[in-house]
Amino acid sequence: MTIRPIRYLGDPILRKPAKKVRKVDDSIRRLVDDMIESMVAAQGVGLAAPQIGVGLRIVVLGMPEQEPLALINPTVARRSGERRLDAEGCLSVPGYRGAITRSRKVTVKALDLDGKLVRVKADDDLLAQALEHEVDHVNGVLYVDRLDSPDDLVKLDAQGWAQEPDGDAGEAGAGDSTGDDERPAGVTTAGPSTDGA
Ligand SMILES: [Zn+2]
Repeated sequence: MTIRPIRYLGDPILRKPAKKVRKVDDSIRRLVDDMIESMVAAQGVGLAAPQIGVGLRIVVLGMPEQEPLALINPTVARRSGERRLDAEGCLSVPGYRGAITRSRKVTVKALDLDGKLVRVKADDDLLAQALEHEVDHVNGVLYVDRLDSPDDLVKLDAQGWAQEPDGDAGEAGAGDSTGDDERPAGVTTAGPSTDGA
């Protein structure tokens, strides 16, 4: 297994819809091994093949305290409901977190490493968020495309904490601030986290 470098925002491969895997063979299983190792090394909870420079529809998920899961040619078969998430992150957009609206329930259809059709269902949890995030990746979409407003993106400092905005904190009434804390709504809990994906 090999840890492969992560591609960052600006790399065109992240914007290209990835190609379907025609056959789940040993070369695909070896690639999945590399993806899992790369995801773990980067402390992510998910990784899509384009993030290591491979334009194939493959994602891996690493939920805390669960065996990593590999999904080949994943598609969202069903999604319903909405929920607002405070701090989505992405290994390909280091140093930022964004508040984003995702689905509550998500069902993904895919092939497993034996080439068998599987369904993964998630409901109102980190897996639901990660499934939508990773399927977006193989479609060339990043979470920063799904922000309601640019203000929903927050830069983190070196320790991974949301930065206090510069300027006149305490001066009431300026801009569209929702209170004396001038950070955009919904990002006040952003902090060190391993939910990059
Ligand atoms: Zn990502």
